[in-house]
Amino acid sequence: MDGERTLSSLSDISDETEFYTPMPAGYERGQCRYVVVFGTVMSGLGKGIFSSSLAKVLQDKGLTVAPIKLEGYLNRDSGTLNPYRHGEVFVLDDGMECDMDLGTYERMLNQNLTRLNFSTSGQIFSRVLDKERRGGYLGRDVQMIPHVTGEVKSRLRELAVTTGADVVFVEIGGTVGDVENAYFIEAIRELAFEEGPGSVCNVALTYIVEPAMLGEQKSKPAQLNLKALMAAGIHPHVIGCRARHPATKKVREKIAMYSNVPMERVFSMHDCDSVYVIPEMLRGAGIDTAVLSILGLTDRADDKLEEVARSEWNDYITRFRETTHPVTIGVIGKYTSLRDSYASIIQAIEHAGVHWGAKVRMVWIDSTDLTDDNVADQLKPVDGVIVPGGFGVRGVDGKLACIRHAREEKIPYLGLCYGFQIAVIEYARNVCGMDDASSTEIDADSLYPVIDILPEQKEIEGLGGNMRLGGHDVVLSPGSIISDLYGQAETIRLRFRHRYEVDPAYIERIEASGLVFSGRAPAHPIMQVLELPRKVHPFFVGTQAHPELTSRPLDPEPMFVELVRAAMVRSGVADPKPTGSLPRGQRRSNGRHNEKAATS
Ligand code: GLN
Repeated sequence: MDGERTLSSLSDISDETEFYTPMPAGYERGQCRYVVVFGTVMSGLGKGIFSSSLAKVLQDKGLTVAPIKLEGYLNRDSGTLNPYRHGEVFVLDDGMECDMDLGTYERMLNQNLTRLNFSTSGQIFSRVLDKERRGGYLGRDVQMIPHVTGEVKSRLRELAVTTGADVVFVEIGGTVGDVENAYFIEAIRELAFEEGPGSVCNVALTYIVEPAMLGEQKSKPAQLNLKALMAAGIHPHVIGCRARHPATKKVREKIAMYSNVPMERVFSMHDCDSVYVIPEMLRGAGIDTAVLSILGLTDRADDKLEEVARSEWNDYITRFRETTHPVTIGVIGKYTSLRDSYASIIQAIEHAGVHWGAKVRMVWIDSTDLTDDNVADQLKPVDGVIVPGGFGVRGVDGKLACIRHAREEKIPYLGLCYGFQIAVIEYARNVCGMDDASSTEIDADSLYPVIDILPEQKEIEGLGGNMRLGGHDVVLSPGSIISDLYGQAETIRLRFRHRYEVDPAYIERIEASGLVFSGRAPAHPIMQVLELPRKVHPFFVGTQAHPELTSRPLDPEPMFVELVRAAMVRSGVADPKPTGSLPRGQRRSNGRHNEKAATS
């Protein structure tokens, strides 16, 4: 009894508390709701696609949505990650290098995201450690709970305040049971408690196995993993069953029974022909109305807005399904064994293909296998070629051989970043007579280093944090192909991720031989777009940027659109016609890209 009195009187005289809930300025509890998507059973289920589709169906109803991906790894961003292992590095307009899922969110929501939409454990821990050094924990020992989890909640609330979102969509990386993601799950448990009932909707994505030797769906792995999620204090409100075929009633019943989630909230999320079909699949299954009612947001939904958004989107899907004309585009790369490393290129090609009604088949050609002798053979099946971004020496000779062949044989060509730089090298070598021309990235002793490190980057050493990153304006030459593709725009905005550039000392000599630099940075002599005039080549364009990152289903990227058009012409269609109602270039010339460029 005495002991108890002592304890309580101690806590009465001290202002120490076990709670740690930093609230960003302006945050009001109850304004914003949260949908949290958890993965179970295994990774690679398409959590980002699911979560972005769900965000889209609420956005279609007029709600403001803000997604955030929480990654368990300790890297501060994805800049130093190998795309072989992790998929492409997606770059946001503000220069954040992040997970490829952010690309899915941008495309699905047709919305530019920022660094607030992406957090890694590296970022969370950095903040905690910095704060500790500044004395921010008032003499406390800094712990996973409540301090690290507090930082996670803080990130979510900051996003809510900054974006004024009705709903923040949280995608937790990895799967339940991963050590590195456990504290994210804990943070969500705390968040739900602090925000109060009805403010957090937990969505579990699970996987229904279908072993070939049984020929039927089994739900046991899903059940066990949902149990693990519940043991972590998270009770799912909605369950999405990823499966090859529609999840059977029996399987859904078992899952409902083991998780106390009513049958009408256990949805089948089976494979389908395009990721863009998923929003409609969710709507059809009623997940949108379920989530709105769980979060008490039914009143905020606007049916009229939804109708318009839905018909625009469904028009895209109809046109996607009706693509007929076969076209083959070759992608020459280093990481060709893993399609994830070219995710945005695949998407940009799909958007452009739908624009023309072309069924684009992509062939992947490993640049290390390409030589001057076999290039004609290897490129025989293709109607157009892309040399995508890349780093280092490996495969460069194959890319040079490919670009030369495409240029000489008039095969439509699009060079992206490294594909732009290597096109400059190829031209310098084979047209301008600079035999040994190269990039200092490839050959530090080249006599003609036509591609060299950016002057402002020269002093900075080491990998990570020393690239020219993010959105930059590109001033287009009037009358050029690129300006024509962008509806005669004077300035456009593209995203960049590079360390090297065309050395301005060689520009005059290269241009004198016929290659045109038609897009440049406004303030520095940085070459950003190259082209060969139409009378010389049907389509030969390269850009220092990554235009694939800003292609959207309803707003395809003009360079890809033109590549596919030129490829169709090569394959025998005399005059391709767009399938959609909007003339090419209209969206962009009137739309956000140029607005953004004009204001920045
Ligand atoms: N390696 C080149 C550079 O650093 C190109 C980079 C890229 O393709 N993203 O400039």
